[in-house]
Amino acid sequence: VPDSADAVLEGLDPEQREVATALHGPVCVLAGAGTGKTRAITHRIAYGVRAGILQPSSVLAVTFTNRAAGEMRGRLRQLGAAGVQARTFHSAALRQLQYFWPKAVGGSMPRLVDRKVQLVADAAAACRIRLDRGELRDVTGEIEWSKVTQTVPSDYTLAAAKAGREAPRDPAEIAQVYAAYEDLKRDRAVIDFEDVLLLTVAILQDRHDIADQVRAQYQHFVVDEYQDVSPLQQRMLELWLGDRDNLCVVGDASQTIYSFTGATPDYLLDFRTRHPGATVVKLVRDYRSTPQVVHLANGLLAQARGRAADHRLELVSQRPAGPEPVYTEYTDEPAEAEGAAHRIRELLDSGVPASEIAVLFRTNAQSETYEQALADAGIPYQLRGAERFFDRPEVRKAGIALRGAARFGGNDSLLDEAVDLPSQVRAVLSGEGWTTTPPAGSGAVRERWESLAALVNLAQDFAAAQPRATLADLVAELDERAGAQHAPTVQGVTLASLHSAKGLEWDVVFLVGVAEGMMPITYAKTDEQVEEERRLLYVGVTRARSHLHVSWALARSPGGRPNRRPSRFLDGLRPGSAAAASRTGAGAAGGIERGYSRGANGTSVPVAPRRTQRAPARCRVCGRTLTDAGEMKLMRCEDCPSDMDEALYERLRDWR
Ligand code: ATP
Ligand code: MG
Repeated sequence: VPDSADAVLEGLDPEQREVATALHGPVCVLAGAGTGKTRAITHRIAYGVRAGILQPSSVLAVTFTNRAAGEMRGRLRQLGAAGVQARTFHSAALRQLQYFWPKAVGGSMPRLVDRKVQLVADAAAACRIRLDRGELRDVTGEIEWSKVTQTVPSDYTLAAAKAGREAPRDPAEIAQVYAAYEDLKRDRAVIDFEDVLLLTVAILQDRHDIADQVRAQYQHFVVDEYQDVSPLQQRMLELWLGDRDNLCVVGDASQTIYSFTGATPDYLLDFRTRHPGATVVKLVRDYRSTPQVVHLANGLLAQARGRAADHRLELVSQRPAGPEPVYTEYTDEPAEAEGAAHRIRELLDSGVPASEIAVLFRTNAQSETYEQALADAGIPYQLRGAERFFDRPEVRKAGIALRGAARFGGNDSLLDEAVDLPSQVRAVLSGEGWTTTPPAGSGAVRERWESLAALVNLAQDFAAAQPRATLADLVAELDERAGAQHAPTVQGVTLASLHSAKGLEWDVVFLVGVAEGMMPITYAKTDEQVEEERRLLYVGVTRARSHLHVSWALARSPGGRPNRRPSRFLDGLRPGSAAAASRTGAGAAGGIERGYSRGANGTSVPVAPRRTQRAPARCRVCGRTLTDAGEMKLMRCEDCPSDMDEALYERLRDWR
């Protein structure tokens, strides 16, 4: 913990310091990936608290995912500023809604609907519209889209046409089901995910007494990833603020990747117009990535078009030179996954920690191939966001045991006062049959072990941050994290979609499936949609600190027709493409490596033996193991929402 407020400012560059010390009035930070935006706002809050200018409980920091919120709380604690609220828009709204419901509406807040697809099915039945399973999911997706874009049933047809949505059914029928769905929810006294924001905004708008109460509580607002704020979230922020302007926003217009939910970088780019006199700070020093990675990121942005691109800032790497990005072309997708697994195995064997490696893909459906390849190679992995960590049976059981030990500690030889916190936790867990060495293999037993290992790691981190913490403090921390679904990092290679990788960083990043049809994805048709896909790739590239592996496959399955080509976004940037060759004379540094399935000639990337045991099929949304054949095909359980867009999952998952 820094010993003074000024010490909090050490480790910030002059522009970041400006952000950290401008504690009054509106502040806007426009800056590229890895320039320390998140760091600057975290230190800003800590500085304000340590200097006695900000009351911790009067600050509300809004981040994009629960994980980011949890990380921010952790950092704040390390900087000596515990007690600040760091939440997502949804979790902040949910808290307020729960608190004010009795006063605003009466009774307690309705239950959150847990079988949404079933509710849509019932609504369709009430309208005498028959939907098969696929249609049901698609219609559910359309309803979700309507709600996040604040489209009421009567406007659906027009709005969907305007947005160029490919409606799965006659739009008039969808509008009808949507209206019936809203009625059914009311009848059954349940609300859905989207209602949480809609209702909170409605209450704050209608009830001035309640809005005043919220305003009395929060005096200072900080928003990370502001380029992806939706009009509804913006409205909520304005209601929280009232006529005050103690608001600090940070964002990168080139990382706008949630447009499909109505998010727009306009609020970020127009901040100065809406807040005359705002302090505007630009950061260009990239502290995250090597010059090689930054070069590729800048190259991608140089080809970007549109409003976000007009505001791009060229990044300047502050790190020493590293390796060139590696580009690999594979014959088919399983070979691509095996090639990645092979390289990951080599990295792990050479001492790179698994937690420093990520495989990032465009759609969640791609993850199965990678899960399989990693499982076959015996590499532990974790799906970002896909598991509800605190709901796992072994984690629940461990929580009960730890709680018991915290209460009755000392009775057992379990827990000498002199023993440090991680050892106490290990002792409790060993009472639950946990061993310190991981079990062989990669099945369910290993998964359970990984969960408990994650708890021990969490205890270690917690004890390091708070040396005097007791077991009871740790239990309180676990409860808080469980409430926010902020899972500790499981020691394993991260598998994540590009959407959920936002804001995060790893030493080694594998960007896979960088082929036409995947990036841009086939359904990106308009120029704006294609530009958003380019930004998604930019987000992916900028997650890497030093090693970047970019790959694509020419065919989908082994023996399939090789009808794919590398993503157009790499044209002129990857070795071997026309402009790159003419620019450097002999193709960009490196060259393209080629990986083939077994049996083909000229294997340069050896592939792991073909699959031996299948990894359990799991729901892309909630992580539940699937057994139903239909569900396995969709890779999603019946209860989870439709695949309107993969990225919406990330928000839903994160919140659930
Ligand atoms: P993104 O756009 O991806 O969210 P960001 O702008 O929020 O990125 P951070 O995550 O805050 O960037 O910082 C990127 C990395 O650079 C982090 O590892 C952070 O600790 C480091 N960093 C930021 N500022 C500095 C600095 N002044 N000195 C050293 N390291 C820094
Ligand atoms: Mg950030």
